[in-house]
Amino acid sequence: MSGVPLLRGRFAPSPTGPLHFGSLVAAVGSYLDARTRGGEWLLRMEDVDTPRNVQGAADGILRTLAQFGFAWDGPVLYQSTRGEAYAAALADLRERGRVFGCACSRKEIVDSARRQAIDGGPAYPGTCRGGLPAGQAARAWRLRVDEQPVAFEDRLQGRIEQQLERDVGDFVLLRADGLYAYQLAVTVDDAFQGISDVVRGADLLASTPRQIWLQRCLGVATPHYAHLPVAANAAGEKLSKQTLAPALDAAQAAATLVAALNFLGQGAPAALCNATPAEVWSWAMAHWDFAAIPRRRSIVPA
Ligand code: GLU
Repeated sequence: MSGVPLLRGRFAPSPTGPLHFGSLVAAVGSYLDARTRGGEWLLRMEDVDTPRNVQGAADGILRTLAQFGFAWDGPVLYQSTRGEAYAAALADLRERGRVFGCACSRKEIVDSARRQAIDGGPAYPGTCRGGLPAGQAARAWRLRVDEQPVAFEDRLQGRIEQQLERDVGDFVLLRADGLYAYQLAVTVDDAFQGISDVVRGADLLASTPRQIWLQRCLGVATPHYAHLPVAANAAGEKLSKQTLAPALDAAQAAATLVAALNFLGQGAPAALCNATPAEVWSWAMAHWDFAAIPRRRSIVPA
């Protein structure tokens, strides 16, 4: 083995419903980015938000990925098995005074917020930063942020910068319902799995500075990031279960893969629609051109 660090990508679906075209685009982009550079590609099932899990969805996603010809390295990592790792990360942050208990209800935060956060909700105004109000218990645990800008160079979207204090506020790592937050789980697991290259939808772009901040607080490496355009409907809404994106049909695997490749600017020939998924993959491995991916955050598929 040479001393070249291993390149490792991942796909991290949430089992909230069947795989749809929008999630397929992220899977195709991360898969080809890793495989064409000799890297590994790992799967992680993001089932940490248990009330949102749909029975059978995780197995259905894995089955669909296999039918579409994806091959992943190692066992699938299920976030529902990772509670101890998230607890250890939180305990470490707590010992170092990086997190604090917060007693605020959602309504109190909405009422006292001075501005909107980058992803829509209220920016946390810092109410419990200096300690809990007398007689109140912690509902959630938040990570302290500061006014230093957090910046990174996205491989597609260019330089992204956020000032977390202004744009987000101290953010939740352990929720009032006792569940670990996405930001903590994804950061701990990207580090645990040794992910060097995160390729995912641009709907997650606004979360990345929080994840980088958390990586710095935990003392783990920051991966390279590329945020792909997301598939949107004519109203500009991201394709998702909520917008009733249809489940993928394995009988149409080749044509759907061709559509995903072309969504990513790859110019796959239409004749491949009648080929097998394996033939589509061999074309894609030979022709993948990262530089051809549109540098936009959302696109309405043709
Ligand atoms: N589980 C997240 C989702 O399905 C993706 C997380 C990630 O790629 O970082 O939207």
